[in-house]
Amino acid sequence: MDLPRELAHEIQAPLTSLELRLVKLCDTLPQSELAQDCLRELDALKRLVVDFLALDAPEVEPSLGALGPVFSALEKRFLPIASARRVTLVVDGSGARDAVFDRGALERVLTNLVDNALKFSAVDGVVHLRARGDDGRVELEVRDEGAGIAPEAREHIFEPFYRVDREAPGHGLGLAISKRLAEAQGGSLRCDSELGRGSSFIVTLAAS
Ligand code: ADP
Repeated sequence: MDLPRELAHEIQAPLTSLELRLVKLCDTLPQSELAQDCLRELDALKRLVVDFLALDAPEVEPSLGALGPVFSALEKRFLPIASARRVTLVVDGSGARDAVFDRGALERVLTNLVDNALKFSAVDGVVHLRARGDDGRVELEVRDEGAGIAPEAREHIFEPFYRVDREAPGHGLGLAISKRLAEAQGGSLRCDSELGRGSSFIVTLAAS
């Protein structure tokens, strides 16, 4: 028996019932910051459990489709976030050919990557999301100009629960899930990075 998975399954129901009660409490006490904080913490805990369970069983049904709508959705979602962080986000999907992917899964992967790129960018930095295609495949690249990742850390960043800085927020599951989701679509995810110059995460998918 896989005890950590059993535990994750077991705590889902009580977490949901706790959430229902907390939502009621927040409705009853709309001014209570404590109640709102509890709901936020609970939400993070629920996400951790869902992410943990998704590690081994990503639900993915890849098929051939256009990448344009994925790029548009990400641009719409992240432009305000980038501007709030005073980072320039440049989205260029013009090199995108049709590719084999699952829309939900691919958006999840790119969301993780763009979110990280913005998080690790300095003010006035630039983050690029772009596509290029050749030889029956499409590469989707998320590049930032942040601090970069040291080679010894880069060996571990796709491992579950690995974080370069243990004090930083997050559980270190985003890249592990992203890699599994990319592979479940028949693709791959890799990282190039140079300390002091930035990082580049590249998703490769099969193209038409
Ligand atoms: P989380 O899910 O907690 O955000 P991730 O799995 O996405 O964690 O990332 C794991 C670790 O890899 C992060 O804690 C961070 O140290 C490092 N990392 C990820 N993306 C970048 C990036 N673009 N630049 C620098 N470090 C990064």
